[in-house]
Amino acid sequence: MRGVKKENLPSKTCRVCGRDFVWRKKWERDWEQVQVCSDACRRGSPRGAKAPGSGEIEAVLLRLAAERGGSKTFCPSEAARALVSSSSGEAWRTLMPRVREVGAGLVRRGALRCTQGGNPVDPEQAVGPIRYQLPDA
Ligand SMILES: [Zn+2]
Repeated sequence: MRGVKKENLPSKTCRVCGRDFVWRKKWERDWEQVQVCSDACRRGSPRGAKAPGSGEIEAVLLRLAAERGGSKTFCPSEAARALVSSSSGEAWRTLMPRVREVGAGLVRRGALRCTQGGNPVDPEQAVGPIRYQLPDA
C-alpha cells in the first residue's frame, strides 16, 4: 500500500464491535482474512465496551418478562441485544454468558421462570437454548 494516501486505504467493519477500521501495515499479508479491529475484539471483549453490571442485566431481564407478560417467553439473547447498542454488531454475543448467569440468579430467587421446550428447567443445568418468562404464568 506504499504511496497510497491514508484516506484511500481500504477499510472493513469489525465483526465484534461494529466499528470501521482501516488497513494497517501489520495486516499486509492477511488483510483478506482480517475480521476484527483489535486483539481485544479477537478475544471477544471489544475495546471501550463497558460491560453492563448485573443490576443492569437484571433490570433488562425483568423488563422483558413484564413486557412479554402472561405465559409468553423470551430468549436470553433478546436481553443481551437490548444491553448493547444496535451499532455494536455481534457484541451482544459476548454478553450471553453473563445474561444467563444473572438470569439463573433471578430464577433461584423466584423472580423469573426458566423453560426449555415448554417445561421448567434449572438454568444452570440446562444445555442448549432456554427461555425466560414471568414466574406466576
Ligand atoms: Zn472491534
